[in-house]
Amino acid sequence: MTIEIKSKGKFGPYGGQFVPETLMPALAELETAYEIAKADHDFQAELNHLLKTYVGRPTPLSFAKRLTAHLGGAKIYLKREDVAHTGAHKINNALGQALLAKRMGKQRIVAETGAGQHGVGSGTACALLGLKCIVYMGEVDIARQHPNVFRMQLLGTEVRPVSSGSRTLKDAINEAIRDWVTNVRTTHYLLGSALGPHPYPTMVRDFQSVIGKEARAQILEAEGRLPDLLIACVGGGSNSIGLFYPFLADEAVMMLGVEAGGSGIESGKHAARFASTNGQATIKARLGVLHGTKSFVLQTADGQIAETHSISAGLDYPSVGPEHAWLRDKGRAQYSYATDTEALAAVKLLSELEGIIPALESAHAIAEVIKRAPTMSPNNLIIVNLSGRGDKDLDVIMQELGNQT
Ligand SMILES: *Cc1c(COP(=O)(O)O)cnc(C)c1O
Repeated sequence: MTIEIKSKGKFGPYGGQFVPETLMPALAELETAYEIAKADHDFQAELNHLLKTYVGRPTPLSFAKRLTAHLGGAKIYLKREDVAHTGAHKINNALGQALLAKRMGKQRIVAETGAGQHGVGSGTACALLGLKCIVYMGEVDIARQHPNVFRMQLLGTEVRPVSSGSRTLKDAINEAIRDWVTNVRTTHYLLGSALGPHPYPTMVRDFQSVIGKEARAQILEAEGRLPDLLIACVGGGSNSIGLFYPFLADEAVMMLGVEAGGSGIESGKHAARFASTNGQATIKARLGVLHGTKSFVLQTADGQIAETHSISAGLDYPSVGPEHAWLRDKGRAQYSYATDTEALAAVKLLSELEGIIPALESAHAIAEVIKRAPTMSPNNLIIVNLSGRGDKDLDVIMQELGNQT
């Protein structure tokens, strides 16, 4: 019994529950409610019904014929989370947690958002289920993500500006947690990635695992066998763990997560937690605790949380989900990174060859496909998760690529 409590929510040395005393009862309540819901046929049936009739699942697995021919190696399949309602995978988790909150009798949802994608996902789920939604967002992010602020407001969500710290995502998470502590009886904190204190990393992974479950069945149907390699971008780690998890027991399936290399590791302007654990990087990731969980955290030499940089707001976070750290230690998954420049080139290539404009986050995964596929045999299969569509990034993409086209 003691061992169970000690290892609760741990992935090897990572994960756990590092929160103020006042939040422990809320985490325990959430954990119990989730365990009951997970085993409850009615809850699962209701969620699956909404995923099918509202989100539009299953999302397709598309063979990227022209990209495959262009790169001249492994056969490439795209898992199309870009066509899910609201344009990204985040809705899978937002809907799952909102449904759970409703079941718990919580009428008020707080969430954090960086670029606004998780805020839009949460606002959407709350509008659908009739819940009050408050989204904390850094002032810097509000200024640079205006369309998503309007989207949230249209959905009836209250967007609360955060003016502390660097006025970006990590400060918004701090404020959302503060709100939760204060209003815990009426409020659920809808966390947007496979991060935070237990049970969030496990619960978010489970809600996103629909991606990998579908992809596994779809590739078996299309090719009669499992893929050789899975590739996905890693911000907090939810779309990647959602794709990877249902394949974990299939030992021959390799898994590769792609972080944001920003302007390059040497520049110190990046969000590559794993790639910067060794070597000469000025901004390095070391073991640390951020937002209730133990994992790799990008820090300055004196242990302050480092400012991160990526062209894609969704990958711009100083820590990484604890299960990824554990999969990496065990050698079950590998991690690499793509730079801003490589991601932009991938946006252009996928748009021209497949008629799909990917989100800048997803373009990091495509950039890795561009490097890997040509080194593999035409008998090999790659599934790459297209976590979202690029509409939200058009301004940035136009600014960066506009004068080249
Ligand atoms: C938020 C986001 C990501 C990164 O988050 P994960 O939790 O790592 O999946 C990736 N792609 C898109 C489109 C996003 O909106």
